[in-house]
Amino acid sequence: MCDVLVVGAGPVGLTAGLLFQRMGVKAILVDRRGTMNRHPKARNLNMRSVEIFRALGIEEEIRKWDFPREARRIMWLESFCGEELARISVDNKLATRYSPCEPAYLSQARLEDLLRHSIKEDLVSIQYGTEFIELVEEKDSIVATLQKATGETFQVRAKYLLAADGARSPVRRLLEIPVIGREDLGKFVSIYFKADPYPIAPYRPSAMYFMLGEASFGRFIQSVNCKDEWLMGVKLSPEMENDDTDFHTEYCLQFIRETFEIPDLKIEILDIEFWHMGVQIAKNFRKGRVFLAGDAAHLLSPAGGFGLQTGIQDVHNLCWKLASVIQGQMSEEILDTYHEERFTTVQSNIDWSRGNIKGYTEIIRAGKLGDRKKLQDLISSQWPILNSIGQDIGFSYQSSLVVPDGTKALASTATQYLPNARPGSRAPHLWLQGPDRVISTIDLFVDSFILLTDSDGESWSKALQNMNPALSFRCVSIGENGDYNDINNDFHELYGIECGGAVLVRPDGHVYWRSVNSAV
Ligand SMILES: Cc1cc2nc3c(=O)[nH]c(=O)nc-3n(C[C@H](O)[C@H](O)[C@H](O)COP(=O)(O)OP(=O)(O)OC[C@H]3O[C@@H](n4cnc5c(N)ncnc54)[C@H](O)[C@@H]3O)c2cc1C
Repeated sequence: MCDVLVVGAGPVGLTAGLLFQRMGVKAILVDRRGTMNRHPKARNLNMRSVEIFRALGIEEEIRKWDFPREARRIMWLESFCGEELARISVDNKLATRYSPCEPAYLSQARLEDLLRHSIKEDLVSIQYGTEFIELVEEKDSIVATLQKATGETFQVRAKYLLAADGARSPVRRLLEIPVIGREDLGKFVSIYFKADPYPIAPYRPSAMYFMLGEASFGRFIQSVNCKDEWLMGVKLSPEMENDDTDFHTEYCLQFIRETFEIPDLKIEILDIEFWHMGVQIAKNFRKGRVFLAGDAAHLLSPAGGFGLQTGIQDVHNLCWKLASVIQGQMSEEILDTYHEERFTTVQSNIDWSRGNIKGYTEIIRAGKLGDRKKLQDLISSQWPILNSIGQDIGFSYQSSLVVPDGTKALASTATQYLPNARPGSRAPHLWLQGPDRVISTIDLFVDSFILLTDSDGESWSKALQNMNPALSFRCVSIGENGDYNDINNDFHELYGIECGGAVLVRPDGHVYWRSVNSAV
């Protein structure tokens, strides 16, 4: 029997795989695809996602693919070779004040590849070409029926099942978990191709270009590698929604050349995908021994780029809880906190991304009317949406896995982040000088509870051990004679404690409990 069967080896399933590997949980990942996904899909990682991958040791690899600073922007153009109407920077300098990580640009396909190769296959195995078919829940386990591409079926028994099987989640449907919202808010085509337009087109690197001129109105081009890989997309008309056969290779070549306005542009079509925009959330993220994560649990509008991030953060919240229960450190009741904590946060991301659609629609409308002044104003008002630091790292959890300390929540907004260590919030970033290198507090929160104290942590450590002998935690003291030196002398103020106080941080980096002073 394995610990967890993960259905779906997309970015969310693979992130769960890497987290399980780190936490010593035996997992099997299955995916019905014969090979890995190669369509770029999402191309951005927000700060919190990069922080998670930093703690898992792959930030450096991510940075190898990251866009140069000059390309971290969005442009609105008359046409690809034509006049620039407006641009907006998505290079938020505030990020470096609040996090060791800046957001990154990297295609989802490259992220999946990186995750796949970081999983070592000793504890966690990945089986492609293996489809989930059926599930029976027993008292202490689930039994899943899986099918190979050859038609051969076999069964896997696991303590828990994690459904990371995408928007149309077969697991969610089988379990009849209802969803709220809609998955049919428009059908889009996404064409992935290789081309080098720069010898002819003006060189103005950007992550994304929206076309507002008549010839290619409403089309958008996304850069995949800031060089010669691109995605081109457009919302299909109602007639094309029912019949997308027009989007064959010849049509796509013509479509791309027309959009670039370069009639003889050399193009290699790499992939064509259709996708539906939707905004929906499952009513419950847990049913018995089954947990939903990623698109299986929720769909967000792409406006604001929170879809993939929300899924990564789901498994970051869930995997350590499953590990703690499987390893006997915590009781099974804590697993209910997954839905409690994530549902509210996901709903907030959904509302945020839904609100963002309005801005884009207004821009398109102003572009159609040729109202340049309004267009400029509307585009300038997009800055907070594209640099939504509060939405990114300011979210906080409330559940039985958070011990309130009587303090009031700070009034963070989607666009403003107020760093604090109130129980439930993400423990803030602080630079620390270690014996041989500088680290961030964020680097400490990976696979066990961390008890942060100032120089003398021994009494807190003993008290915590007596209170919960099964809990695995590590005490880290910060101060002149501690494990790490507080480089900017910010620890007490930022973490809201006095001398002798302590903060217990969960493995997902959220504060579990805080004592302002030394009340041991
Ligand atoms: C064209 C496109 C552009 C996008 N752009 C953005 C963006 O800019 N920003 C953003 O944040 N998000 C974007 N998204 C959304 C993002 O791609 C998704 O949020 C993300 O893929 C969700 O990851 P996931 O692992 O939950 O699901 P998926 O990536 O859908 O992975 C689910 C996996 O489950 C497997 N599976 C399904 N059923 C079974 C079964 N029965 N048995 C075994 N395996 C099964 C599938 O084969 C698949 O590999 C975009 C999506 C698309 C399609």
